[in-house]
Parts: sequence; C-alpha cells; structure tokens
Amino acid sequence: MNHPEPHKQPVTALTGIGPQSAARLEKLGIHTLQDLLFHLPLRYQDRSRIVPISHLLPGMTTLVCGTVEFTDSIQRGRPSVICRIADDSGSLSIRFFHFTVQQSQQLKPGTLLGCFGEIRYGYNGLEMVHPEYKIVAAAEQLLEATLTPVYPLTEGISQSALRKAIKQALTLCLASDSAITDWLPANLLTEHGYPSLNDALQTLHNPPPHLSAEIINGGSLPALKRLVFEEFLAHHLALLQGKLAYKSWQSPVFDINQAVKQAFLEGLPFQLTAAQQRVTTEIESDCRLAQPMLRLVQGDVGSGKTVVAALASLLALNSGYQVAIMAPTELLAEQHFRNFSLWFAETGHQVLFLTGQLKGKSRQATLDALADGSANIVIGTHALFQESVHFHKLGLIVIDEQHRFGVHQRLALREKGQHGGLRPHQLIMTATPIPRTLAMLQYSDLDISIIDELPPGRKPIATSVISSERREEVIGRIEHWVAQQRQAYWVCTLIEESEVLQCEAAEKTAAYLCQTLPNVRVGLVHGRMKAAEKDAVMHAFKNRDCDLLVATTVIEVGVDVPNAGLMIIENPERLGLSQLHQLRGRVGRGNQDSYCLLLYQAPLSQAGKQRLAILKESNDGFVIAEKDLELRGPGEVMGTRQTGQIQFKIADLERDSGLLELIPAAAQLIHRHHPDAIQPLIQRWIGHSRHYAEV
Ligand code: ADP
Ligand code: MG
Repeated sequence: MNHPEPHKQPVTALTGIGPQSAARLEKLGIHTLQDLLFHLPLRYQDRSRIVPISHLLPGMTTLVCGTVEFTDSIQRGRPSVICRIADDSGSLSIRFFHFTVQQSQQLKPGTLLGCFGEIRYGYNGLEMVHPEYKIVAAAEQLLEATLTPVYPLTEGISQSALRKAIKQALTLCLASDSAITDWLPANLLTEHGYPSLNDALQTLHNPPPHLSAEIINGGSLPALKRLVFEEFLAHHLALLQGKLAYKSWQSPVFDINQAVKQAFLEGLPFQLTAAQQRVTTEIESDCRLAQPMLRLVQGDVGSGKTVVAALASLLALNSGYQVAIMAPTELLAEQHFRNFSLWFAETGHQVLFLTGQLKGKSRQATLDALADGSANIVIGTHALFQESVHFHKLGLIVIDEQHRFGVHQRLALREKGQHGGLRPHQLIMTATPIPRTLAMLQYSDLDISIIDELPPGRKPIATSVISSERREEVIGRIEHWVAQQRQAYWVCTLIEESEVLQCEAAEKTAAYLCQTLPNVRVGLVHGRMKAAEKDAVMHAFKNRDCDLLVATTVIEVGVDVPNAGLMIIENPERLGLSQLHQLRGRVGRGNQDSYCLLLYQAPLSQAGKQRLAILKESNDGFVIAEKDLELRGPGEVMGTRQTGQIQFKIADLERDSGLLELIPAAAQLIHRHHPDAIQPLIQRWIGHSRHYAEV
C-alpha cells in the first residue's frame, strides 16, 4: 500500500477493518487513518514487568505470574472457581465467576499462569477477580516492551481490534518518508519544549515503560501537552476563522441620526452611564461598516444592557432595517417587549412579540407583518429563528443572556436572516463574566465590549451567610419586611439535577410559608408550570399583588422588580458562585437597601463557608467569576453539562487549562507566518464535526 498521503486514507485501508467496523468507528468520530492516530488512550496498563506476589497491595492493577497450586470450584454463595497461584515470594487467589469446565481443567496444578488485573481483599487475603490470563511456558513471554494503551471503545469494536488498527495506522503514517505533517512551526516547538508530532504520537500510543501511567494522566508529559496545545489552538483558530468568514460578508450600513438618538435618550427616565455610552459608541462604529458586527456586550446583572440593545436597534430602524431580539425565556422576552414598547412608543416603530406560545391567527398576523416589513422590531424566544419566520429586511439580531446558548447555537444563528446577499449585524449580551483564559475558547469569534459600571444610586446588596438552623428567624424577617411594603424572593435551588424534585421542593416551601405567614401573599413560579401560569404569577408580583415569590432558579435571568429587595436563597452551597451572583442580581435594582440571605444547609464545611463568604465580600461579577474558576475549575464554570459546549478529543479543561494562556500568541504567529497551517489544523482536530466550518 503506497499512498502519497497515507493518513488521509479511510480506515478500511487497514487489514481487519471492513465496512462494518468502519461504520462502528464512525461513532467514535474516526473516519481516516489520521483520526485513528488522534484517538488517544484513556489510560495505560503496565505489562512491562511482573510484580512479585509479596509486593502486591489492594488497588494495584498489575501483571503477576505464578504456578497453579490447586483449582477448586466453590458452591457456597455465588458459584465460582478459585485458582491459587504461587511464585517465589508468596501466593495469590484468582477468582472466576464465569467459567467453563474446560477452562477450569486447563488450570491444572503445575501450570505457569500469567494474570493481569486488579488486586483486592478477598475471603482469604488478597485476590484477583476475573483477570485476563494466559498459560505460558516462561514468564518472559508475558512481558511487553511498552505500556499497553487502553482506548475508548464503541459497541462492536474490541480493545484488541482497536489496538491492532492503531498500530497499523502508526506504522503506515509515521514511516519517515510519508510522515504526517507537523503543522506547528519548529520555533514554537522549541519555545515550549514540545516534541515533534511524530514523536508525540509514538510516545502516547506506545509509551516507554519508564513513564508511569500517572505521569501521563497527570498531563505533564510534553508529548501530551503538545497535542492538547495543538487541539486548543485548532479550536481557537476555528473561532477566529468563523469570525473572519462572517466578517467577509456584506452588511447594511446604518447611518446615525443624532437628532433621533437625542430624542430617544430624552424620552428615557434616566441618563446613560459612561460605560453605556462607551459601549453604544463601539456598536455605532461597528454598524457604520459594510461588514457584519459580531459584538459581545458583557455587563454585570443590572448594568443596563437592555437600553444599549435598544439604542443599537434604533440605528437599524433609522436606516430602514428590522431588528430581532432573542431572549432565553418567555418571561425575559416579555419583559423586553414591555420595555421596548414603552421606549419606542413615540418613535412610530411597531414592536411585536413572538414565542412558541403564539398560535393561530395572531401568529399568522405577526409573521405577515414581519414578512411584509410593516413591523420593525420583533422580540421573542428561539422560536424566532427555529420556525418559518421570514423577515423583510433584517438588519440586526440581538441575543440576550448568551450563556444559555452554546457556541454552536450561536454559530448556527448566523446562517439565519440573510437577505439579498446582506447579513445582519449581531449583538450578543451576557451577564456571565467569563474569565479571560476561558474567553479564548468561548468568545474568540466575537469583539467584546464591557459595561463595567452600574447605574448610579445602586446600593450594594448586603449579603449574609446563615445556617438553615435559623430558618424560622429568617421567615420572621420576611413578615417584618413585607409589613414595610417591600417584596421578597425565596429561591429553591436545584436538587441533584432533577427539575421535578426542585419544583416539588418549591411547592412545599410555598405551602409552608403560606401557612406560617398568614399576612404575606405568597406566589410560586417553577419550571414545570405552563408559560401562561408563570406569566400570571410574575405579573402579580410585578404589580405588587403578591409579596413573596417562591421560585426555582427559573428566575435566574433578567426579571426586574425594583421593589423586591430581599432574596433568600436556600441551599446556595449547591450552586456555583457566578450563578448565585446572577440570582442575587434580581435584588438591588431600586434605590433602597437590599439584602441577600444565603441559607445554607448545616453542617457546611469550612471551605464551603469560605466559598459563600466570597459573595458577602464582593459585588463584582468579574472578581466572583475568577474565584469561581479557582474553586470549581474550568469544566464546571464552562458548564460542560450544558449542551452545545465544545467537545475536545483529548484536552481536559480541568487538567490542561494552564495551557490556554499560551494560545492567543501562538494563533497570531500562525496567522502571520504560517497561514497555510490553519485549515489543516482545523481539519485535523475539528474536521468532521463541521460545527465551525459552516459559519
Ligand atoms: P441587565 O444588564 O441586567 O440586563 P437591565 O437592562 O435590565 O440590566 O437594567 C436594569 C435596570 O436598570 C432596569 O430597570 C433599567 O431600566 C435600569 N437602568 C438601565 N440603565 C440605567 C441608567 N443609566 N440609570 C438608571 N437606571 C438604569
Ligand atoms: Mg438583561
């Protein structure tokens, strides 16, 4: 088999891989020989040495070799076969639960047996249960020259079949004359002390026995670091590439009408903060260009992002274009709808509301108005883009609270709303201050503006950390609070990922509070209520027909009720700091004193209390996000459980996030001096998943 670029061949080029195995390998994202090379072991086994039986400890996974002393079947309890082997240093029981008569007959006394498996305590001292075993003539036959890789598998592909396939792929692709291209420039490798691609792959698939599995798994091995670095770099380059690709499209140019803007500002009940003005100017200069804006506005909860979005909308409207504003929940969409309707009332622009709930004639009327251009602003949930919505001339897309949408969803959205060769500008708003290093993976396809100032007159929220033992005292405080004509939230947090349980807890709490506080009007919202029911409760709360709102974390984003200045969060220890900070941002929206009580479930560890104390000490979302990152690690902070997050082949954010800060400089080097490496790197690491490529 002489192929000019062996790594590009399909896996069926290998002996032993037919169409059926190839189809199974596709489930692992493996199509070509190159994909096999980058399918790295999960862990390693050490069969390079035989451990004397007297040295064994429970928990070790090792190779032992001994002579069979006896083999017995045991009928007591679960039937099993026990085989006792001994070497010069001691003896060990091997236990099998599944066995055939032939198998037990093979294990005759005097047979030399090699076993690989995990040591644990059994009835009669140490034992190995169901090891891989082999009858040999001499112990040396068991030894392997390198550590044995253990690969992630998929149904229908055995470990040994995969080992064989990868071994072949290594031989074919890494032979010196047809070596796979190393796209990292040599000076970069030298700078970081990384091995060549060829060496790195050889080392990781067949590590020399002097490397312990721990060293490799710990992530400190240059061979592994190099590949992780390359993978991070590929993702970063892909995002940058997506940005460049999008920016190469044409967009409408918006002109700025100062008189209209001035009139709009004068209609607002407040003056913009300096930060809001600065970000507005940044948006204006983006929209003056004929290339699409891709801007992220980061601003803490309550920093006033909505009005910035309204000013951006005004630009589009003035130039005769439509605006679509997407919020993550119905509740938020509705709140924006109310604000926008109010702010745009004098301008003559019609604001519409569109969610999945809207049906029948009114839905059709909305769709018609968007299609014929009689309506200019539409606010809604993702239904805005999922369904058959056609715009007359869409000029701007605003996505609010972006952290609910993954990178891929964001990229998919860019496909929408193009018309006559023009792409809309995009403004994305988030209250989640992502730490700088992680932003590199999350946001490098965007330009970033930061609103780093709260509107004046906001008093910091006084946060206290209180044991659940004082729950009754806290409940008493609500009564007093409500007597002063103020409102409050009681938030029940997630119980083990179960929305059902969370809703039940909220129902119980609401019932209890209702009973205990007869003078307090208690409302309840949770994620399992119908949208209309939720709305009714929220309206009641907004209109002060309800004093205490018991809620699950559905109120996390955006709800704005300035008179509600007290929030009790039950079991805050279950949430990340940033999420708590966002929840707490629901209070402190008026100019009165506001409080957040973190009612933790006692007993809480010292570390747990310290973690919550961070919220007491800081009201700055960025500071809190950095601490959250330190304490919980990047995987949790990025929300790996959320859908739409980046999937890595080999990088592990917990283990490897230290490498992230090296990436932007490397990306710049590649862009300047090795642009031809960009596509192959993206192809190698992201290739078939195509999430980025379609931007
Ligand atoms: P967020 O950034 O969390 O989306 P909002 O846009 O909802 O914040 O604004 C929070 C509250 O602050 C709203 O009631 C809004 O009307 C008000 N607000 C926004 N900007 C200002 C400002 N410059 N001065 C005073 N109040 C403001
Ligand atoms: Mg908001």
